[in-house]
Amino acid sequence: MDLLHWKLFPLLALLASFLFFFYIQDSSKSSQSGCSLFPHSHYWIASKRIVTPQGIISGAVEIKGGSIVSIVKNKDWSGKFKQVVDYGNAVVMPGLIDVHAHLDDPGRAEWEGFPSGTKAAAAGGITTLIDMPLNNFPSTVSTETLKLKIEAAEKSIYVDVGFWGGLVPENAFNATALEALLDAGVHGLKSFMCPSGINDFPMTDARHIKAGLSVLAKYKRPLLVHSEIQSLVESHLETKDGGGDPRSYSTYLKTRPPSWEEAAVRELLTVTKDTRSGGPAEGAHLHVVHLSDASSSLDLIKEAKRRGDSITVETCPHYLAFSAEEIPDGDTRFKCAPPIRDAANKEKLWNALMEGDIDMLSSDHSPTVPELKLLNDGNFLKAWGGISSIQFVLPVTWSYGQKYGITLEQLVSWWSERPAKLAGQHSKGAIAIGNHADVVVWEPEVEFDLNEDHPMFVKNPSISAYIGKRLSGKVLATFVRGNLVYKEGNHAFAACGFTILAT
Ligand SMILES: [Zn+2]
Repeated sequence: MDLLHWKLFPLLALLASFLFFFYIQDSSKSSQSGCSLFPHSHYWIASKRIVTPQGIISGAVEIKGGSIVSIVKNKDWSGKFKQVVDYGNAVVMPGLIDVHAHLDDPGRAEWEGFPSGTKAAAAGGITTLIDMPLNNFPSTVSTETLKLKIEAAEKSIYVDVGFWGGLVPENAFNATALEALLDAGVHGLKSFMCPSGINDFPMTDARHIKAGLSVLAKYKRPLLVHSEIQSLVESHLETKDGGGDPRSYSTYLKTRPPSWEEAAVRELLTVTKDTRSGGPAEGAHLHVVHLSDASSSLDLIKEAKRRGDSITVETCPHYLAFSAEEIPDGDTRFKCAPPIRDAANKEKLWNALMEGDIDMLSSDHSPTVPELKLLNDGNFLKAWGGISSIQFVLPVTWSYGQKYGITLEQLVSWWSERPAKLAGQHSKGAIAIGNHADVVVWEPEVEFDLNEDHPMFVKNPSISAYIGKRLSGKVLATFVRGNLVYKEGNHAFAACGFTILAT
């Protein structure tokens, strides 16, 4: 070997290792481990309809190492970039963030479980969900039980998953225990003002909630509340005969009147005044989950917002899609709490959403096994209450919202931006530079029948109230942190979602 070759050799070796490094970089987190159906770490997603905070643009989103690094508006991007996935006229939007899902894992994985629940979420364009602390067993009310949940989620989730902790009488007055749970990474707490239906998740009252808020204030994290207070005077209780035929939906509806929601909200507002600027619980926030009553309860929430309380409210697609009048006798797939009310109430809910009085949407995906839905018996008073929906919330919101003229920007606000804010996810919820590349690609105009031929990933599809409906809005692809985790009926080989813990 002559002198020249001796000099070149180290240079060539350096070049080779450099190239090898980039090859590894490009494929390690995706193709080799099976995390992505598109094995590249640096690429562009192009579309004529990209929904950004600055409006809908035609262009391309540059993704590198799982994050959005640039957004190119130029119409003439083609040919300039190497790895481009061009979705043409399909909509490119931030992935949905579902702040209210029950995946029942560990302990009741036969109801749903992390693998099936997050596969269904991915197929529906949801890229992050925050799992509720109950319906799994044991309930997530301590650092020990949170640990069990994190262990159950690891290597079994196809989207990012965070956790709410439970505020229950056992821990409500124990600030040390609550602080430990918050330190361990729950994004906030959840409590019930009526029986939850789960034995190890007892109900709380205003005193517990006040104590919880004072701890949450230090962490600037929210308390989510199931707002119904059982009134023995005004209603026919479920444990009694309900005053009518148990197979008739109207019998069930009478057992949980709007006055239950109103009573709960009224009581909550006696403590949310503490969250005002300068108040003793400033920094804490109260979020009313799954509002159904669009009359007095909503008026009270609007009033509290006006006076400066830190309060938000969500409703769910099933309250916006269905009305009590159309629920067939014995069809317990529609049972949930609070109940689906009449058509006039549904109109009011839509108006409140359009006006901005309802802040966001969530699935409240709350499945069980078909046996507990008592589908053959059809007894509304005895069947498990909960709607199975996580895979369908995007097309359902879009389909039923057509009548009200909803826009893609509104969808993003209700399903991504505001949920991200509630759950403290500052790197999610928008197609913006620096954010995680959490993206859904879908075709709003494409209609489909939700029947047995439709690929469904929830564990027990037969219990979903949406089966048999014709919907508009087909999900083509879902990216989580740059990994293509779902594409037209197929999922990535490996479950590479992150458990996201609050810090
Ligand atoms: Zn729920």
